[in-house]
Amino acid sequence: MKAIRCTRPGLVEMVERPVPEMAPGHVLVDVRFVGICGTDYHIYQGTHPFISYPLVLGHELSGTVNAADRDSGFEPGDPVVVNPYLACDTCQACRAGKSNCCETLEVLGIHTDGGMCTRIAVPAKNLISASGMELFEAAMVEYLAIGAHAVRRTGIKPKANVLVVGAGPIGLATAIFARIAGATVTLLDRVGQKLEAARAMGFSASMGFSASMGFSRTIEQGATENEEPSGFAPTGFDAVFDAVFDATGNIEAMNQSMFHTCHGGAYTLVGVIAGDLVFPDAEVHKRELTIRGSRNATAADFDHVIAAIKAGLVPTAALATHRCSLDEVPLRLDMWAGARAEVIKAIVKV
Ligand SMILES: [Zn+2]
Ligand SMILES: [Zn+2]
Repeated sequence: MKAIRCTRPGLVEMVERPVPEMAPGHVLVDVRFVGICGTDYHIYQGTHPFISYPLVLGHELSGTVNAADRDSGFEPGDPVVVNPYLACDTCQACRAGKSNCCETLEVLGIHTDGGMCTRIAVPAKNLISASGMELFEAAMVEYLAIGAHAVRRTGIKPKANVLVVGAGPIGLATAIFARIAGATVTLLDRVGQKLEAARAMGFSASMGFSASMGFSRTIEQGATENEEPSGFAPTGFDAVFDAVFDATGNIEAMNQSMFHTCHGGAYTLVGVIAGDLVFPDAEVHKRELTIRGSRNATAADFDHVIAAIKAGLVPTAALATHRCSLDEVPLRLDMWAGARAEVIKAIVKV
């Protein structure tokens, strides 16, 4: 069968792979649509911290069941969303219902070969029914669930004022689910094109990034002394919010955005980056700030996203800005990696 493999940084190619066979507890899924996300571009560009090459890409997957055991609850032809998080079910996090941060979590398409191919074998427990929704939309459930999870963890209340820093796909997903929770949402980014996309989805959106206090403080501490500023230039944006979400993957933004939280507020870090966070304790203390990590999503978040899509609350058509076929991925991935400002979500039809 055909598969899209990142053989080494800078080289994505179509390869032939053996068709997977049924294994106990697994379901064979004919892959129908695959979302491409920031992680895939990082894998391609060699900037992902823990990838072993070669790797078949693809973790945002929808498909139809090809073959399943009788006790799996699935039958051939069933439309499904794939939850790509392969959790151990035995560690402390898994036992506490937090399989999203399993101690030995493996994610399809990141730690193990993914689903950018024609067929994949997936544990039955990692499949969710996609009946009643387009399979095209079903391929967007995973990344939307990351935003939904961050919002749920933060406990956003109706009428809350929320700031999402970073208007990429995960930032937009977070903003959409904060809005669904009843919040008023502002997005912040340094790229005008992303702000326009956010505004088109009904959000207020502001350029840049401020908190001059945080900026000078970081420099004082030597953390960024010898580096160019990130481009998140101070713009005078100094509003404060009940909850602030970081979805930038930019260490300076991550360090500074806490200054936009109100007293008693919450700061949730959705992105991840290799680097040290630096928060002045006095600022954390005086706010009694709640700082949270948010990683991946749980089955409950997948269900919430599916219900929201079915209810028409997610602008899936506006999010899916680019499409291509499996054959076109090697060429398109390279193009899109250089055009991240205009590509919100690219979706591969298998
Ligand atoms: Zn992704
Ligand atoms: Zn576990």
